[in-house]
Amino acid sequence: MSQQELLKNEILVVLSSPSGGGKTTICEKILKKHKDHIYSVSATTRKRRKGEKHGKDYLFVSEEEFKKKIRKKEFVEWAWVHGERYGTLKKFVAKAKRGKQVALFVLDVQGGMAFKKKYPQSVLIFLLPPSMNELKTRLLKRGTEKTEEIKKRLKVALKEMKFWSKYDYVVINASLSQTVDSVEKIIESEELKSTRFDFTGWSKGKGLNKKPRPQS
Ligand code: 5GP
Repeated sequence: MSQQELLKNEILVVLSSPSGGGKTTICEKILKKHKDHIYSVSATTRKRRKGEKHGKDYLFVSEEEFKKKIRKKEFVEWAWVHGERYGTLKKFVAKAKRGKQVALFVLDVQGGMAFKKKYPQSVLIFLLPPSMNELKTRLLKRGTEKTEEIKKRLKVALKEMKFWSKYDYVVINASLSQTVDSVEKIIESEELKSTRFDFTGWSKGKGLNKKPRPQS
């Protein structure tokens, strides 16, 4: 077993940004490059957009099915976003823990805050669009929402923006390749954080301890 394998534990990365901030595209790029990373597929009651796949982009479920998942305590967190329900399933956290993998969670700010509370060791990254105008342009270009919905999303964006300082990292998403690069660098640094290592017994020649030190 390599030293790297001995030391690594799971890294839970939460990406948040106002709607249209580009987090899905960024995630796709990272997942393509890092085959060992996993993506947390959220459940939602929102309707499927053109090109989206059930089980890949989201688990598109009915209101009833979503409520059943709440009752069965299947969610780490769930929230109302733009009038629909979205929830993070516990099974993706469990999967990341089992495989000591990097897992990406794309959540709104409510989800980000709830997630951090539950998993203080998680890494929260806020993707900031360069400007409000740019955000509007991106939403219009995406063309998946009607004008009224875009107006609503921009209004919510202003509220969401206020949460940036509660995140561990802020990346200004001006260029896609640079943003992907920055997020990769954050993950790489997190993998090397001293708090993720346990050198108990090292001085006695016992080698490195597999178990990560508990986070304070
Ligand atoms: P969209 O409908 O554009 O895919 O997503 C709308 C918002 O819901 C985005 O900000 C997205 O990050 C957020 N979202 C997606 N999945 C979850 C989730 O499981 N929990 C929470 N709290 N927000 C989510």
